[in-house]
Order: sequence, then C-alpha cells, then structure tokens
Amino acid sequence: MIKIKAFGGYSKIGKSMTAIDVDGEIIVTDIGADIEKLVDFEDEKSVISIHDTQALIENGVIPDDTAFFNENGKKVKAIVLTHGHLDHIWGVPFLAAKYKCPVIGTQFTLKVLENLMANFKQKDLNLIRLNTGTQYKISDKVSVELVNITHSIPNSAILVVHTIYGAVVYANDWKLDDTPTLGQKPNYARMQELGDKGVYALILDSTNVDQEGYTFSESVVRTMLEDVIKKSLSNKTIFVTTFSSHIARIKNIIEISRKLNRQVLIFGRSMSMYISAAIDTKIIEKSKFPEVITRRVKVNEILRYVRGKPGKYVIICTGHQGEKGAFLDKLVTGQYEYKLGNDDAVIFSSRVIPTSLNIANRSMLQVALERLNVNIADNIHVSGHGSKNDYKLMLKMFRPKHLIPSHGGMDKISVAIDLAKDMGYELNKTSHILLNGQELVLD
Ligand SMILES: [Zn+2]
Repeated sequence: MIKIKAFGGYSKIGKSMTAIDVDGEIIVTDIGADIEKLVDFEDEKSVISIHDTQALIENGVIPDDTAFFNENGKKVKAIVLTHGHLDHIWGVPFLAAKYKCPVIGTQFTLKVLENLMANFKQKDLNLIRLNTGTQYKISDKVSVELVNITHSIPNSAILVVHTIYGAVVYANDWKLDDTPTLGQKPNYARMQELGDKGVYALILDSTNVDQEGYTFSESVVRTMLEDVIKKSLSNKTIFVTTFSSHIARIKNIIEISRKLNRQVLIFGRSMSMYISAAIDTKIIEKSKFPEVITRRVKVNEILRYVRGKPGKYVIICTGHQGEKGAFLDKLVTGQYEYKLGNDDAVIFSSRVIPTSLNIANRSMLQVALERLNVNIADNIHVSGHGSKNDYKLMLKMFRPKHLIPSHGGMDKISVAIDLAKDMGYELNKTSHILLNGQELVLD
C-alpha cells in the first residue's frame, strides 16, 4: 500500500514537504520554508539558530512534522531533495537530523544545503550525492532515482521512487525547456521509459497549469535581455536584478554584457551564496565570473568609480522584489555613495511573487525609481514552471495510474483536475485533491 502525506506545498506554494510511505518504508521529499513567513520571522529575530526549531514550526515557517515523527520517525529511510530553492530545502537543517537517515540530492542542491547548514551550525547530516540518471537502493523493495529536469536553478531533478506497485514520481518543480542556456534539456527518454514501465502515482507541480500554451525557454529571455541592453538602454548605466539562484540567467547577463563591451559587477550577499555553490560544483567557471562584492566599503569604492560613465557598466544585483536591506533598496534609499538619475536604468529580470509584502515593497521601489527619473524595464523574465500544454505533455509521458496535482492552491489544483478529466482521469478514483496536512491512501 502506498500512502502520500502532504505537509506543505499543496494548498499553497511554499514549505514543501511530502512523505511517500511504501508498505511501511518512508521516503520524505523536500523540507522547505514558507518564504513570506520566514521574512516575518527574520524581521522579529535577526539571527536564527537551530534552537529556534520549535518557534519556526509554531510560526508556520517550516513544516510541522512533530506528530509524524513521533509515530513514523523510525520508518523514514531517506530524505530526498529535488532542487536548491529555499521553499524546498530551507527547513532541512532544522528537521532532518532527528530522522537519522541519509539526505540525498544532486551536487549543487547539496552544496546550497551545506551553505545553509554552516549558517545554522548544523553538522549532523549524512549527505549522499546522487547524480541524475542514477539510482540509490533504499531496501530490497524500494530504490530512488533522480531524473534531470529543467527549472530555474541548476541541477534540478524529478524524484522517482521505485516500488513493487510501479514508480511513484514527484515532479516539483519543473519546466520543459528544450533549449536551456545552462545544463541539459529534460531527460524525455527516461520519462517516456518510466511511463512505459508503469507509473503508479505522479505528484505534479501545477503552479502554471492555468497558463495557456507552453512556457518559453530561458534562451528567449537571453534574447530579450540582449535586445534591451543593446537598444533601449545603450547609453545608460544598467542595474539588472534577478533571482540569485538563477545561475543560468546571471551567466547570460554576464556574457551579453561582455559581448556589448560592458564591464560587469555583481553585488549582494545571496548572489554570493549561490554563485559560490555553482563554482564549487563546477557548474560555472570561476575565471568567467566576476567576484561578488558584498562589503559595504568595497561597494562604495567601486560605485564611486562607476559614477558618471553611462553605457559602460552592467551591475547585477539583489532586490527585485523590493526587499528591505537588499542592494537595490539600499541604493534607492541613498545608503550607498551613488546618486541615481536619468543616466541609470534598472532591469527587473523577474516577476513579482504575489504576496502582499512583495507587492507593497516592489511598488514602493518602483515609485522611488520613477521619482529619480531612472529608466525601468520590467518583467524581462520567463517562468521556471510549465504551462498547460507542458502539463499535458508530462501526463502523456508518464501516463500515471494516479495523478496528484501539487503547488498553487485549490484554484490551480482544480484546473489540473479538469484538464486531467479531459484526458480520462476521474476525480477520487485516478485523480486526487491532496491538501496540506492530509494523507492520501492508494491501494
Ligand atoms: Zn523551485
């Protein structure tokens, strides 16, 4: 019998954690944070430590696995991580050690995790690096496999739990990018093969299932960025802000800028964390990336030099959501020795993640930039999540017996259920609504 327990990432995006129970042997996948609640928690308490675990649970920042651990802790055989986004791995340093089982993931994911562990002085985890395309044996009846998939962070994977009932596939998060600008395209052959052999259940990221068509490739953003830097903003000093974990995007901005004879600078603490993880795991070459500047004195020193030379620099920085304390926020509020004006431009290579805090912060940032006469290019971005047609393609490849849509809440899950209905799935028989805190029993 297979039981799937949803801790987080179903009713709402964030705080991802799922337990897959195969006849009493349990694989836990992802232990993330609710980023909005994490920001609130950080506002209250500037330094978070491992001793705050209970408070983090009570404040809804990380999943509440207390009752589950008391009842089933000993049955958990492995914790498998799909990718390095914080809504999928931030909770690991706090919750994983007590299970006394290996934590499995790809090289880059585990490197990001190691950085987090160092922040919280967590040393008690047995990390096992598993490359995509390889399997790890849990017991005589269960093994796990990671399959290469594209998303918006390097080294993302789909988890496959091999069982005597067939494969249980956990695909959170993914897009189908056939022309990725970093890493390999999705392993379609393997996904098809798994479908042929028999997929028992598929947990499928439904974030963008309500978007028509296909999600565009990262190579489209590359072209958009080149266009906007070359044409509309050619005589400006350009600040580009994007997700620090989006190494492919950052690499593209560097390459385009250099091609256009611009010097590139990178500012911001979280940029440093992800770029160093990518260098350490040889995803990018250190010699081709400028050093990330985080120290205030150094930032000021460099900005003094950049001043008054429009058309010469591209500065990659943090702060696309208008976050307080990020580089852009400090720049706009005059905390650096650089006065923004008509010779400057800001490219938002991102979209606003729609939480009330982000919407408010970002709108304040935008107003401040406009008041300073800074040129703005917004939404030079494509999503890291597959759209409706990609979703159908995933269903056609895997042809699961049971479909469990995840991510995005009931509005997205109901679209996924309707779409699956057109493909022959029947609610509560072969397609299932699973919400946070609930358990689905399949037999
Ligand atoms: Zn993700």
